Amino acid sequence: MTQTHSKPPVGRGAGVDAKVSATSTSGDLRAAVLFDIDGTLIVTDGAGARSWELAFADLWGVEADITDYSDTGMTDPEVGRRTFEAVMGRSPGAPEFARLLERRMHYLSQTVAESSGYRVLPGVEELLPRLVEEGYVLGLVTGNLEAAAHVKLARGGLNRYFSFGGYGSDSADRVEVTRTAMRRGSVVFGRGVPPAAFLAVGDTPNDVEAAHAAGIACVAVASHKYGMEQLEKSGADWVIPSLEHGLPPLAVQVGQVPKAR
Ligand SMILES: [Mg+2]
Repeated sequence: MTQTHSKPPVGRGAGVDAKVSATSTSGDLRAAVLFDIDGTLIVTDGAGARSWELAFADLWGVEADITDYSDTGMTDPEVGRRTFEAVMGRSPGAPEFARLLERRMHYLSQTVAESSGYRVLPGVEELLPRLVEEGYVLGLVTGNLEAAAHVKLARGGLNRYFSFGGYGSDSADRVEVTRTAMRRGSVVFGRGVPPAAFLAVGDTPNDVEAAHAAGIACVAVASHKYGMEQLEKSGADWVIPSLEHGLPPLAVQVGQVPKAR
């Protein structure tokens, strides 16, 4: 059953149970937390879409609004390919696609830097260092190309918290992106880490679905486009309004394992 946490946990280290030792990665102890980026850690206020638009205008002189052809949760390569097919009326050749990805990354640095609505979401700047201090290793699970993820996080000074990740450049399938992050997490730990030791944090039903398909529990945060009710319906293990009061204590406690599904 989804547990809704709208009241702030109390005490030092609120949000994670400070008594839990995360230094051991055996059994069911949570050891690593995997964060989605857009809408969970930051919002770029359209900087991503704007970078695609500039790339299409630069290369082919066409107007391309990716929001017409893509959904949240789609990976970057998929967004680029679908948008190309829609505005150009054909599939991109390999050299064209390479140029598109390069131009898009070229403009992304600019659009992220110029975005007046860029912000790190409430609670993130407090939560990430606290999780690290308490011994959790942090990773990313995102549809962004790896380089795009780091450009977006750099403006907020958040890259330093993340030791590994799964990216849109690893697979078009978000479940596989999640599994890739888990494999890389095991590399960082130096040994296999069981699914129950991971916890995912995301802001969309897609994030919840991918986490569950990969066998890990998910905290859904209603910090962007989806409300608490929609996220509860998605089957998230926990739903919280924002990261302002940390993660639900039970989400990071010993013995909490994903629901059978
Ligand atoms: Mg998101």
